[in-house]
Formats: sequence, C-alpha cells, structure tokens
Amino acid sequence: MSVTDKVKSLLRHRAASPAPGQEAVIALAGNPNVGKSTVFNRLTGLKQHTGNWPGKTVDAAEGFFERDGRRLRVVDIPGMYSLTPRSPEEQTAVEFLCAGRADAVAVVCDAGCLVRGISFVLEMAELTDRPIIVCVNLIDEAGRRGIRVDTGRLSALLGMPVVASSAASGKGLGELAACMAKASAGGRRRNCPATYPLPVEEKLRRLASAVAACAGKNAPGVRPRFFALKLLQDDSDPFVRSIADASGMAPEMRERLRSLARECREELAAGGLDGGKLTATVISRRMITAGAICEQCVSKDSGRQRAVSDVRLDRFFTGRVSGRLCMLLLLCLVFWLTIVGANYPSEWLSGVFGRLEPALRSRLDGWGMSSFARGLLVDGVYRVLTRIIAVMLPPMAIFFPLFTLLEDAGYLPRAAFNLDASLCRCGACGKQALTTCMGFGCNAVGVTGCRIIDSPRERLIAILTNSFIPCNGRFPMLTALIALFLTGSVAPPLDSLLGAALLTGLICLGLAASFGASKLLSLTLLRGEPSSFALELPPFRKPRIGSVIVRSMLDRTLFVLGRAAAVAAPAGAVIWLTANVRAGGESILSVICRFLEPAGQLLGMDGVILTAFLLGLPANEIVIPLIIMAYMAQGSLNGLNDAGAVHSLLLANGWTVGRAVCVMLFTLMHWPCATTCVTIFRETRSLKWTALAVLIPTAAGCAVCAAAAALFRMAGMM
Ligand code: GDP
Repeated sequence: MSVTDKVKSLLRHRAASPAPGQEAVIALAGNPNVGKSTVFNRLTGLKQHTGNWPGKTVDAAEGFFERDGRRLRVVDIPGMYSLTPRSPEEQTAVEFLCAGRADAVAVVCDAGCLVRGISFVLEMAELTDRPIIVCVNLIDEAGRRGIRVDTGRLSALLGMPVVASSAASGKGLGELAACMAKASAGGRRRNCPATYPLPVEEKLRRLASAVAACAGKNAPGVRPRFFALKLLQDDSDPFVRSIADASGMAPEMRERLRSLARECREELAAGGLDGGKLTATVISRRMITAGAICEQCVSKDSGRQRAVSDVRLDRFFTGRVSGRLCMLLLLCLVFWLTIVGANYPSEWLSGVFGRLEPALRSRLDGWGMSSFARGLLVDGVYRVLTRIIAVMLPPMAIFFPLFTLLEDAGYLPRAAFNLDASLCRCGACGKQALTTCMGFGCNAVGVTGCRIIDSPRERLIAILTNSFIPCNGRFPMLTALIALFLTGSVAPPLDSLLGAALLTGLICLGLAASFGASKLLSLTLLRGEPSSFALELPPFRKPRIGSVIVRSMLDRTLFVLGRAAAVAAPAGAVIWLTANVRAGGESILSVICRFLEPAGQLLGMDGVILTAFLLGLPANEIVIPLIIMAYMAQGSLNGLNDAGAVHSLLLANGWTVGRAVCVMLFTLMHWPCATTCVTIFRETRSLKWTALAVLIPTAAGCAVCAAAAALFRMAGMM
C-alpha cells in the first residue's frame, strides 16, 4: 500500500474526538532526520527503517502503544521542512493533518538545530488547534556540542508541553508517552505564537472570519487563520482546494473567498508586499519568532559549536578530488570484503543443501510421488531455490550491513553531494545519487526510494535508469566471471584485490551508462531543467553496530532474499519443464537456445547464454547455473561447486576472455528482473514507462555487447 493509500485509509478512520476508552490518534511529525522513526520504533516496538540522511522516510507507518490506560495509535508521517507540500506523499500527509483526524500532534525537533524545528512547530500551531507536544530529540548529541536547552522555558514560551529526549537510548520517551496520553484526551489549543506585520494580520483577520463563516459547522481540522494565510499566498494552490474540499465548501463560497483574497492581495501589493515578498515575509517572520524563542532557552558553549574534526572530515569527504577518490576506494573496499567473505559461506551452504537433497528425495519417494512430480519439485523448485539462497545470502549478509554502516554514519548524503554536479549536468536530480546507492542492494528498493525525488520528471529519470546499477543478484555472476576469466592466473591475495578493482571498474561503467541514459532522457522524452533542492549534510554519527546488523539482516537481507525466493520457486518449476518436456525429440530449452543462437553470436555470446538471461528474468542469480545446466545437457541445475570444472566446461563450449567480457557487459545492462519490473509498474502506474525501463538498458546492453564483440573479433580474441 502506498503512503497515499495508507494516509487516505487513515483519513476515513474517524471524525470525532475519542470517547473514553476509545483509541486516540497521535500524528508524529517533524523535519527529516531528527530521529522521528527512532522515536516511533521505541514507542510502538515496530521496526520502521532508520538511517542517517534526510528524506529516507517516504512511507507513513502506524503503530500502537498503551499508556495510563489509553490506547494510542501513532501515525509516523514523512519528514517535512514545512507544511507546504512538495510531493504527493507530503500532500497526503498534510491532508491527513488538515482533516483533523489526529487528536494530538507530536513534533520531533533536533536539539542541535532547534530554530528550524521550532519554526515548524509554529507553522503546525497555525494549522491545527489540536494539542501539540514538542519533543526535543538528539539532546545527547547537542550536549556533546555544548548546546543546552531549557525545556521548561521553551514550554512556557510556546504554551505547549516540551520533552527532551535521546531516542537512540530511549531517554525521555517515557515522559513523551505520558504527555501524548494526556494530550490525546481531547481539548483545543488557543494560542498561536507566530504573528506577521500589521497589514498582513489585518487581512488575515478579515479573510479568517470569512473562512469561518463559509466553512460553517463542517470546518476541517485546519484553523481558519491558516486557511486564510494559504488563500492570501496563492488561492490556486491545490492545497487550498483540498482544504475547501475537506470542508465541503460550496462553489459560490469558494468564489467569494477567492475574490476577497484577491482584493486583500492587491491591497498588500499596493503597500509593497506582492506575492513573492509576502511568502518571504511569512517564512522569515516565522523564522525570526523561532529564533527569538530559541535565544531565550538555548545556551551554547561557544567553543564547542561543531567539532573541528567534523568540519575537516566533511571537507575531505566532499572535496573535489578527495571526495571522489574516497568514494571509489570505499566502494572498492566494500566489494573486496564482500567477495572475500562470501565464498566460504556460499560453499558451505551449497554443501548443506546438497546433503539435504537425498533425504528430501527419499521422503518424497516414501509418499509414492511420481518421478515427474519429484523431478519438478526437487530438480526444479528445490535446486533453483537453494542455489539462489546459497549464492545470494552470503554476499547480501556482508554487503547490506557494510552499506547500512555507511548510511548510519552519515556518508550517503556526502556521496550524493559528490555526484550532484554530474547528475545536474545530465538534467537529473542530485538525490538520484541516493537512489542509485540503494540500487546496489536491490533495484526494486532503489526504484521505491525514488519517491524522495519531488519533481515527477526527475523521479521518472531516476526510476528508468536505476537498473544500470548492478544489484546484489548480479554481483555473484560478475565476481564469478572475473575470477574464472580475468584474475584466475593471479596468485592470492592479489587476485581478490584485482577482482574488487575490476568489479569497481564495471560498476563505474554502469554508473556512466546510468548518467548517459539520464542525459538522453532529459534531452528527449523527459525534457526540462533540473530542479534545485537543499541537500542537508547530517553530522557524522557513530554507527550503532548491533542495531545495524540486526536491521540490515531483517529489513534488507531477508526481505530481498524472501522476494527473490518467491519468484525463484515457480521459476524453478518452469525452467525444469523447459529442460524436460520434449518437442520433436528435443527439449524446449534446446529449441529456444537454437532459435536464439544467431542473436547470441551477434552480441558476442551464444544462444544458451541469451536463453539463460531470458529464463533468469525472475532472478539474475540463476543465469550462470542455467548456462551450466544447458551446456551439460542436463535436466536440472548441477555441478557449479567446482570452479575448475566450470571453467573447463565453459572453455569447451567456446568461451573466451572476449565472450566472458560480453557476458559481463550484458549482465550489467539488460532488462530489470521481474520484481523490479513489477515495482516500476507500481510506482509509475504506467505500462509505457515500465516498457521503457525494460527497453533502455536492454538496448544499451545490445549496442555495447555488439560493439565489444566486433572489436574482440577484429583483435582475434573471439
Ligand atoms: P528520521 O529521518 O527523523 O526518521 O530519523 P531517524 O530515526 O532515521 O534517525 C536519524 C539518525 O539519527 C539515525 O542514525 C539515528 O540512529 C540517529 N538518532 C535518532 N535519535 C537519536 C538520539 O536521540 N541521539 C543520537 N545520538 N542519535 C539519534
């Protein structure tokens, strides 16, 4: 269910304040990366994804907890910098707040950057008259930087309960839960601490009383003053329309309000406050008020503002040369650790599954199963499934925690910063760098992550080009081919180092192809200027090793593995059928291989390899086992464990270094796997864009492989 659907279902949830004993709804809001998900997880015991970079929460989550005899439903809405929505997710989240379905709102702020958080609180106080609880989080981190917050004073100035917390350790969350339970009992807030220059205030009063008269009894959860402010700023804003819709306002009422707003705007413009200036004034007044409040309750130890080491680290990680070099080295290191570490557990798992197979076979025999059904289940489903688990699980179990460590430490936004200029030159959005990083783990996850990109044009570019980034399913194939054909003659440990360097080179090629395709799209189908956005660099944080391992294993490794297994099991059955059902004395598999032979040759491969790529649509990791199965003319996946035997088999079937390179290039650039295709369709809701997402990397792969094959033939290497 998308965030829009989720929030919409919540919108239908309940209209009135909770009756005693009924559950109350608390909206958890705040700027991105202030620890909102951590607070949510601690309160509800759920496992919402957390990560040290702004914008990663794109999905609304809800959970429950009980406190002081009250059952509270907490809705974690996506992080926002203001209540002016910029994406469909933010729009629905704001609609949720506007519809007044939350009985209270808890705003999480970063103690180290309180002015921005309080400015958001002020805007929230303008929007809703429900109780607001302010949670000043990250108090431990602020303390280390010499920042102290007087929460009592802050509470008095805002007229709202304020709780200091350190969600990472759980400190202060008991008090927060108690405040939430108390606030959710109902009641209305009257105060609204933000004020504007007199002429604006006068217009707001006029408009607000007209709004109150028009909305009548159906007034939604939004205060008339806030609606008036939005009307005054821009009456054609879709947000204004949705508030009017929520209150069921008649068309003639809307027209009356619109013309009154126009009149007020003209009067303000005559006084020098035209459209742009008015919005700037509103924002700056809110910031000034927030600044004045914070000045009275935040004290700073001036010598310890920001650790010098942090500034130096930032300069290093985002420097023109050092930043890029470091990115390359980190990538190389992660791949090296993955390659070196994954081999042994992969072999061990293969051995275990191999030993379990006879037992399974005899159990099925004991049940009197026919040899056809047994073949389908054991040689088809079981072998493909266990092959995928043995090949995919170890590299994922190493790669994902390493990647999550980088994410938790705050490195990802720095990588995005380094790639931003190149992406802008390609007409794409710098945030695409973040979704690209997610694609390394799984392209389907990368595609879903594209929701962090606000502009629909740039979001589509990021979605259509994500599959150029090799996911975890393709790494094992690339590493196996590098080891067999390119580094096989190099002595250890140099072979794994050279392997990691070659893999990094291939990934850079994938990145370059992704940038090239982005550029092409931005010049043709998706023309437009790259939008500007503020990329916040969060402070470097010491990653929490234990929680990183648990989180990356549960959220990512097992999730991706489960999804791959779900497609691999039926695929195993289909593959077994193609290899064992005969037509005219020949298996369907060999008929397809023969049919695809000319196309395969043109691309520097052969019919078997191309067929394996096609049958590998459910999951890329079965491509190599399929190739071996077809070469050995067997009806099931077999014989992959001995690298020497595989190498000899491939050589005997015409493989050369040139062919291996073409296969690697095609691995890098071909259609996305079935799961990614389904995800692309879900995200774009369009068959056209899904087809294009398949076509673009496939066309690029065919062109690159055909060119490489021609070169290798000329050089006599094929
Ligand atoms: P969200 O984007 O607001 O949902 O933020 P997250 O919950 O994902 O947290 C962002 C980062 O801050 C993560 O690395 C958290 O581990 C870290 N974090 C959250 N709360 C605290 C806290 O109170 N103290 C410290 N030191 N780190 C925190």
